[in-house]
Amino acid sequence: MTINKELTAGDDIDSRCLKCKHVTNHTIVAMVGSKVVKVQCNVCRALHNYRPIQVEKKATVRRSGEKSGQPGKTGRISRELKAENNFRELLGGRDPVAALEYAMTESFTDDDLVSHPVFGIGLVTRMIPPNKIEVVFKEGSKVLICAPKEKK
Ligand SMILES: [Zn+2]
Repeated sequence: MTINKELTAGDDIDSRCLKCKHVTNHTIVAMVGSKVVKVQCNVCRALHNYRPIQVEKKATVRRSGEKSGQPGKTGRISRELKAENNFRELLGGRDPVAALEYAMTESFTDDDLVSHPVFGIGLVTRMIPPNKIEVVFKEGSKVLICAPKEKK
């Protein structure tokens, strides 16, 4: 009696292939109990973990209900706002205009305010001898190269 067709290794199954970027026919390579765990794409022959197609459909439906290109925006805003507040606190009311222009050929010292062309205003929080500084920017801390201290 075969009411439910039991899948076994070697059977064909549809799965989403990341290389082909769509659902393709796959051959089951490995099973754990009655669960398919590894499959091989019959189109590109790539081996990968089995991804049930239902999961993919669910994700697509959820996304289509949102404004395009801005998933989870509210969560992101509040996180950025928090980072901005923390950063303001860190600067302690210092004037960003007074920041030193960052350049690899310049030397900086602890507590200097620097202005970076990409990351914006940052505060030097740590000297890393001989020629690096750790700078905290709004988006996080970065290690930057600078000229050795003696040079100035
Ligand atoms: Zn493929």
